[in-house]
Amino acid sequence: MSDSPLASFRPALGPGDWDQVPVHAYKQEDGVPFKDITRRLLFSAPALACELRYFEMAPGGYSTLERHEHVHAVLILRGRGQCLVGTQVRPVGTNDLVYIEALTWHQFRATAGEPLGFLCMVNAQRDKPQLPSAAELAALKRDPAIAHFLAE
Ligand code: MN
Repeated sequence: MSDSPLASFRPALGPGDWDQVPVHAYKQEDGVPFKDITRRLLFSAPALACELRYFEMAPGGYSTLERHEHVHAVLILRGRGQCLVGTQVRPVGTNDLVYIEALTWHQFRATAGEPLGFLCMVNAQRDKPQLPSAAELAALKRDPAIAHFLAE
């Protein structure tokens, strides 16, 4: 949670960049795989039960392959790429919506040679993400489309 009150209005400075919204490292944990991705916390306040974050990957970047009890409501704000949700690999682009159900493996990848940025709404109170075990990863990779996606 943010420790200072949210300003009523924070103008955009450019695509995926806002006044008074600092850029954070994607995650703090050690040993969690991800690449070339940043995090911005857009809305977090005691009066909200949710948080709205903005994640942006540089070309070739990716978020962590993970799952958790909490759900994600995602809107692609910028660029193109691909996402894995469950066992489905799909292309995604600006303005697409992605809903990630509880305990569903998911990952976003900027595979189109351009940045990929998305808004992600989550519960403010949420569980810690789980990473796939070696056996779970091997099971996912038995699908050639997923194996190709994870190798990009
Ligand atoms: Mn997640």
